Amino acid sequence: MGYKMMVQVSSLNQYSFCPRAVYLSKILKLKPEFSLERSRGLISHIIRRELSIRQSKLLGKIRDVNDLNSTLLGELDRILEDAPHIYRGLLGEVEYNRYIPELRSEILHEIEAMRDRLRFMIEEIGFEHALNIITPWRVEYTVRSKKLRLSGRIDKIMRNPSYIPVEIKTSSVPDGIWAGDRLQTCAYAMLLEDKFNLKEPIPFGFVEYTRVQEKRPVMTTEQLRRKVLETRDEIIDIFNGDIPEICPHGNGKKCQSCGYKGQCYDI
Ligand code: SF4
Repeated sequence: MGYKMMVQVSSLNQYSFCPRAVYLSKILKLKPEFSLERSRGLISHIIRRELSIRQSKLLGKIRDVNDLNSTLLGELDRILEDAPHIYRGLLGEVEYNRYIPELRSEILHEIEAMRDRLRFMIEEIGFEHALNIITPWRVEYTVRSKKLRLSGRIDKIMRNPSYIPVEIKTSSVPDGIWAGDRLQTCAYAMLLEDKFNLKEPIPFGFVEYTRVQEKRPVMTTEQLRRKVLETRDEIIDIFNGDIPEICPHGNGKKCQSCGYKGQCYDI
């Protein structure tokens, strides 16, 4: 089986949004068009994700709950300063500084929620337990399986003692969980089961919606596992020559917000 027949887990999410987007990005290698909104979204994603990943390190640094606010704010400013250097390749020509004042004030609200949640945990169970609960076993963990024909990078893995994958999402927050986020989280659980040859299935993972500072559980049911494999197979069909039609979901709003809309309808 060739490398090309491995499906990236993020493609399951993209397929759930629109199968044709997978065709345009993976087969035709098109890039989403530039827009101010998209640039802002990219920077917002980088900063919010970085803050989420650094959270446990921050808690490890403080010994007084009253230091939480200043420590979180200090880290936010460090991230804002570091990001253009760390993510130079990803940001490309994006005018980084243009978006920062507005984004910073947006994220300040999330920091307040993060601070309150951490403060509550510390006051209830103490520093050490709080630190244990929020510290991932691994971050940005790459995993692949020839058997599952899937590969991906898991944002965080918690241990309890089972493995719990956590997918960080920084954009809009649904009432429940986006279907694509469910697929992605379940696929990561399946990859971890395969990687560590687990005897017991991983029963759930989490999607962390950073804008509301909530981790929402995804149960890895048989039905969802089957859906992961079906979606993978449909993506492999695209690799093998299937071309999804324009607007296959029949939802014009998706096309309006899609980065490929200017190219997709002309192909
Ligand atoms: S423009 Fe519409 S049909 Fe084309 S990739 Fe985007 S969402 Fe899919």
